[in-house]
Amino acid sequence: MTIFDKNKTPRVEIDLEKIHGNTKRLRSFFDQRGISMMCVTKGVLGNPLISRAMVQAGVKLLADSRIENLKRIRDAGIEASLVLIRTPSMGKIKDVVKYADISVNSEISVIERLSSEAGKTNKIHGIILMVDLGDLREGILPRDLGQTLLKIMPLTGVKILGIGTNLGCIGGVLPDQAKMDQLTSIARDLELRFNIRFDIVSGGNSANYNWVKSAGDIGRINNLRIGEMIFTGRETVDYARVEFLETNTISLVAQVIEVKEKESLPRGTITTDAFGKVPTFVDRGTITRAIVEVGRQDVLINGLTPMGDMEILGASSDHIVMNLMKRHVQVGDEIRFHMDYGAMLSAMTSPYIEKVYLNSPIAPMPGGH
Ligand SMILES: *Cc1c(COP(=O)(O)O)cnc(C)c1O
Repeated sequence: MTIFDKNKTPRVEIDLEKIHGNTKRLRSFFDQRGISMMCVTKGVLGNPLISRAMVQAGVKLLADSRIENLKRIRDAGIEASLVLIRTPSMGKIKDVVKYADISVNSEISVIERLSSEAGKTNKIHGIILMVDLGDLREGILPRDLGQTLLKIMPLTGVKILGIGTNLGCIGGVLPDQAKMDQLTSIARDLELRFNIRFDIVSGGNSANYNWVKSAGDIGRINNLRIGEMIFTGRETVDYARVEFLETNTISLVAQVIEVKEKESLPRGTITTDAFGKVPTFVDRGTITRAIVEVGRQDVLINGLTPMGDMEILGASSDHIVMNLMKRHVQVGDEIRFHMDYGAMLSAMTSPYIEKVYLNSPIAPMPGGH
């Protein structure tokens, strides 16, 4: 493993114990309602230590939209079934069969390629057929499902494990009781018509939490693909806190590189800023301003909230400018930020930001790893 300096900045601090705890509590919440959880690792690029913490919390399925991330997990020897949750591109079929046990699919031509590639390597690749219930991203339209199933059934090397849907993404469609009932009735119809039984009926993502919480009848829904709320501790419809989850599993720490008393209004003729927008500022007289050593090239600034009573005034490629309010901060001090999921994703992707792990390892892996 890489040796890291815990005090390097800028850094993200990844609390493996909190991620483990959130995964465990969510898994048991869903388990009690007859729903299995796939942990979605794309927000952390399939990070092996985080993936391992999830598996140690009892999760059997890890899911990611990128085959490169699944390869990372596979290469780390983590024991879980791996699911590709973006329909494979033709150019990556070989890797998909090699590194993923299951993929979501919506195109027969892709499934045919998966079938022939799996045949070459004597593998059985699992297929979850995505159904579009109106969010208008991926998925086969309900009326075309029967036709597609007919074409897949004779194929060797692939096995239909079930169906799934994804709502609340492009169209912002709410995964409510009506949508889930629709998925249930689609599943039941297909099972009857083709005399099959789906192992997986995957109803959605973190946006489904409220539905699960209040649902009287979950029907045939027996799986969800959960990423964001494990990390943020919030559901993704109203972004309300989920009381039994931790919120700061991953936070950003960066150093202050300038502190000066300056006025709050720019001097001179105001034109466009570094990103082509005309900025506006409120006149608060002279304030204590700090510059922090990260900018838009590192992280999605909109998703940052400083911990403590301070505020972000603006950001350019390499700087965040802050109002320190009443806080006493010096050059070289560290400032901590809460991150939303978008900020977290960008910070985890940035090569300029150090990754530091807290509270690891949690427990020895079963089997003595
Ligand atoms: C990203 C993704 C998820 C996970 O969504 P969260 O909001 O992070 O829970 C689930 N399904 C698919 C298809 C996805 O692309």
